[in-house]
Amino acid sequence: MRILSGREVRKRIFEEIKGGLEGREFGVMRIGDDPGSRYYLSGIRKNAEKLGVRLDVFEREKAAWEEIENKIEEWKRRNIPVLILQPVPGISPHEIYKIIPPELDVEGLHPWNMGLLLRGEAGIFPPTPQAVLEILSFYEIETKGKEVVIVGRSSVVGRPLSMMLLHKGTWDATVTVAHSRTRNLFEVTRRGDVVVVAAGSPMLLKREGVKEGACVIDVGINEVSGKVCGDVDFEDVKEKAGAITPVPGGVGSVTSILIFKNLLKIHEGIHGK
Ligand code: NAP
Repeated sequence: MRILSGREVRKRIFEEIKGGLEGREFGVMRIGDDPGSRYYLSGIRKNAEKLGVRLDVFEREKAAWEEIENKIEEWKRRNIPVLILQPVPGISPHEIYKIIPPELDVEGLHPWNMGLLLRGEAGIFPPTPQAVLEILSFYEIETKGKEVVIVGRSSVVGRPLSMMLLHKGTWDATVTVAHSRTRNLFEVTRRGDVVVVAAGSPMLLKREGVKEGACVIDVGINEVSGKVCGDVDFEDVKEKAGAITPVPGGVGSVTSILIFKNLLKIHEGIHGK
């Protein structure tokens, strides 16, 4: 069984973008106490420091809609690219993305950017599904004509990933998306040559849900008894899987650098190359 370290992939992307972002500004908002978003922000801070990016972080336990709106308006006036860490308690991402212009949307979640993704055109795409694809590509895991099962249909991970994997001429996968209403989940996941779990449910995937030799990508970031763990029961699954990403050190490590790759694309768009 191969461990697919995200750190190796991260290093390669870091080398690709370093030097391009010195002194650039980046607005990041985190509200509430979700462990995943806290973990995500700590990765962003580390990368920003290494890349010389000037972070403007708006972090609160609670915030009224007016405060959120005012901060986003300020970033818009200053032409600063924006990332809103999810979830924002009590507010749907769709409401927030109504007030962020698509050209400042680092996460590719604005309906315009989502539309480009759906049409298979170039644009700014969500970094987490991109991270899954970067890992598959780095470790030369074939998806052409293969069965890929995704657990989770969120607009941040599962849904955009399914669109990317369907892309003709590149990933060409046969994609199944499972969710909380899927019956006999493990029967479905056992079909996967590749299984991607993005459910936010600690240790959800067990060995009986994995085909012998399958590649298992764990997107989940959860906190259990003060420790970070994924959506895959790593110890249970590792001997049956052919390859598996660890948590931490897997998808999350790649996501946090891909945010900066998106940031670079946006700055090149705003200020020219
Ligand atoms: P989300 O919006 O809560 O969506 C979770 C999805 O999983 C939903 O579609 C849900 O189904 C499905 N689901 C939940 N429990 C399930 C179960 N027991 N069986 C089958 N499906 C189930 O979460 P998200 O934002 O996509 O994030 C998912 C996980 O990835 C979280 O742990 C999050 O912290 C992590 N994450 C990691 C990164 C990274 O870079 N590694 C980035 C973003 C998020 P329904 O639609 O039916 O409710």
